[in-house]
Amino acid sequence: MPNKIKAPVKKIEKPIKVEEKIEEPEELKKKSSDPEQPVVPLPKGRKTPELLRGFRDILPDEQIYWEILREATKSMAETYSFDRIDFPILEKEELFIRTVGKQTDIVEKEIYGFEDKGGDKVVMRPEMTASAARAYINHGMLNLPQPVKFFYEGPNFRYDRPQAGRYRQFYQIGFEAFGSSEPIIDAQIIVMVYNLLKTIGLETNIRMNSIGTQDSRQAYKTELASYYRTKKNQICEDCKRRLLKNPMRLLDCKVEGCVAVKADAPQILDWLDEESKNHFMRILEFLDEAGVPYTLDPHLVRGLDYYNRTVFEIWTVNDEGERAQNAIGGGGRYDGLVELLGGREGTPGCGVALGMERIVLALKELKVQPTAKKVDVFFAQLGDSARRVGLKVFEDFRQSGISVREAFGKGSLKTQLELANKLGVLFTLILGQKEVLDGTIIVRDMESGAQEIVDASKIIQIMKKKLEIAKGLDTKR
Ligand code: AMP
Repeated sequence: MPNKIKAPVKKIEKPIKVEEKIEEPEELKKKSSDPEQPVVPLPKGRKTPELLRGFRDILPDEQIYWEILREATKSMAETYSFDRIDFPILEKEELFIRTVGKQTDIVEKEIYGFEDKGGDKVVMRPEMTASAARAYINHGMLNLPQPVKFFYEGPNFRYDRPQAGRYRQFYQIGFEAFGSSEPIIDAQIIVMVYNLLKTIGLETNIRMNSIGTQDSRQAYKTELASYYRTKKNQICEDCKRRLLKNPMRLLDCKVEGCVAVKADAPQILDWLDEESKNHFMRILEFLDEAGVPYTLDPHLVRGLDYYNRTVFEIWTVNDEGERAQNAIGGGGRYDGLVELLGGREGTPGCGVALGMERIVLALKELKVQPTAKKVDVFFAQLGDSARRVGLKVFEDFRQSGISVREAFGKGSLKTQLELANKLGVLFTLILGQKEVLDGTIIVRDMESGAQEIVDASKIIQIMKKKLEIAKGLDTKR
């Protein structure tokens, strides 16, 4: 047993005040739902629909971070043999009531749901693990060699209280493995996401806990309930209800008073059955082996009904080892989920979901500099005839495989050259009225500023040669 388990951390979460009803003050309603995207006021008298609160546009400037994350995910998924899968956004309400749980905040308060024209109760998915389990059953994947491993990416919807890093539409990347209860699977998923985040520049710490099996939890729940009954006057109204229905939920509450009461609550690790304890120890040993930093958090239970045994959360840490305000991911083992949806009894599973907005935010906060793809040639043109001829020349370039950009919509040569500079190209081609008449193109070396007039019909061969020489001199390209 790694001795870390004997030293549980009792760090109290920075309290976040949660309001009973998700209702925005008027002045907040008028503001952008994303503090990073301030709304530009319109001239008086004009009305353009604004974004719904808690929804945001992902603007072109930010896309590079998303691309970095997607590419790293794809490459990690390939390495660890997780296959891509996509699910519909709309699912039957029943899917989440049966899995996430009727008494969870997600189902009780945060569902975007409606009755469709055929009278079916449908919801915009609040998460995707339940969809993954449904797909595993629907497509008979239990007949495939196990474990079956998926990864996915896409938007989820929760009518949550919006704040920095918390939106009503948010994107997740998920990895799920069905059909194996081996602790190496839990460990592999954790090691993989840890490495994924590390490759894009994020240092993280994993908070680990085990919540045992349904059976082993019973005695703990009774103990927990009697502890909280003695503190009834210190907990919020929601928690008083939770105390009657599901006392484990009390540990999830973020209200200040409840967080303080939680600090002295009994710890589930003391109540684990032997098998769950061994399972957990094995995972910790694997993590030790792989050098993944983790902290035990004996009060971590996570907000969904379907977890058993392993639960974990991923937190970014800064240079001083301080934890961020929000978890960037979380997951765990869900050995009963497939059965809960009518699949084969005892089908095990384990997975993780990462919040993409929070990762992008962390990348920006850490000033991780994304390196844009290198472009070699910029094509500038002036006047209508140059634009017409230019279209054809540009297409020739594209087909030749030379990386090239243009700005057919942009006016002055100055603006176009500025863009070329921003892209860091090696050469800019300039085509004006005169060059069209002469059948020539000006080639400007961006490094030296030297310009040369060349035969337009030979431009591809000329540029191939010039690029070969220039790249031979520039070791960074
Ligand atoms: P969950 O599905 O609640 O286990 O959340 C997994 C991860 O998704 C979290 O750690 C967050 O990074 C992200 N996440 C969950 N809810 C939101 C939200 N409302 N806005 C942004 N990210 C979220």
